[in-house]
Amino acid sequence: MFHRVCPESSTPRIRGNAGLEVTPEYLKKTIAFLRQNNYEIVSLSRIDKLINSNNIAKKFAVFTFDDGYADNYIHAYPILKEHEVPFTIYITTNLPDGEAILWWYLLEDLVLRKNQIEFQLNGRNHQYSCTSHLQKEWAYQEIHKLILNGPSSELNQRILQVFKNYNISLLKKTFEVALTWEQIREMSKDPLVEIGAHTINHHALSKLTDSAVHKEIEGSRNKIESKIDQKVEHFCYPFGTSNEVGEREFEIAKKYGFKTSTTTCAANIFSEHKNLLERLPRLAINQKRDNGNINYLNLWLNGTLPCILNKLKRVL
Ligand SMILES: [Zn+2]
Repeated sequence: MFHRVCPESSTPRIRGNAGLEVTPEYLKKTIAFLRQNNYEIVSLSRIDKLINSNNIAKKFAVFTFDDGYADNYIHAYPILKEHEVPFTIYITTNLPDGEAILWWYLLEDLVLRKNQIEFQLNGRNHQYSCTSHLQKEWAYQEIHKLILNGPSSELNQRILQVFKNYNISLLKKTFEVALTWEQIREMSKDPLVEIGAHTINHHALSKLTDSAVHKEIEGSRNKIESKIDQKVEHFCYPFGTSNEVGEREFEIAKKYGFKTSTTTCAANIFSEHKNLLERLPRLAINQKRDNGNINYLNLWLNGTLPCILNKLKRVL
């Protein structure tokens, strides 16, 4: 699982956001590492065949990119094409539609730029001192929590409140970092690329009503299909941990007939997953977590770290 592929930034960053990014060099290293270690990099559409036996005969890996960031087209696509790596990009449709407020990036800019942040939320005055980088990291985390804390239906109001005192265009980051439909269409014509759905608004599905979950899944699938003129066969649950997705969501995704649906649960794929294609776990490629050392990837791939994280149980 990847999110963004961005060249190293020379300016300070907030850790949480920077953790979703790998550099183009690290992407190349990941491809080389997998191939040197005899992993075949395959498309998502091939994995049902590969695991449809009691023993998985060969080691394989699948590349997925979540959300739909422009850097996937600008920085990742040329590398993946050059190395003939198939991949899937999951699109949250309000990104290319230009309607998503990427508040976590707006918040990062704000705490990095200001020495003091003040806003009113839930009838309370909030004030954060942001002079040192440590304070900025702390303020970011606290405000991040405040924004997420509460019903999804009121998320936009909370965002408006937090940024109210600062003259910020809420859609500024969206135009900077989201893929355009033009770019998505172009990539979708390449046999290496599969476009998957990742809902309309990237809400935690478990917090929504049944009909809202249907709307989020079906709406994003239909929109993408109409834009790329192809069937969308793969789905990815927003956030994707057991807090945001469970049996109800798995059943709904199955009803829509996706070939596969993926979570963010950190685990390996076993042959048992042949009957659980609506809940495939994934391993994050995280350059910061692994200290930029590609060899740590082996501890994830060979199951050592997933095994510890999942308390010695296979995640099925
Ligand atoms: Zn996502």
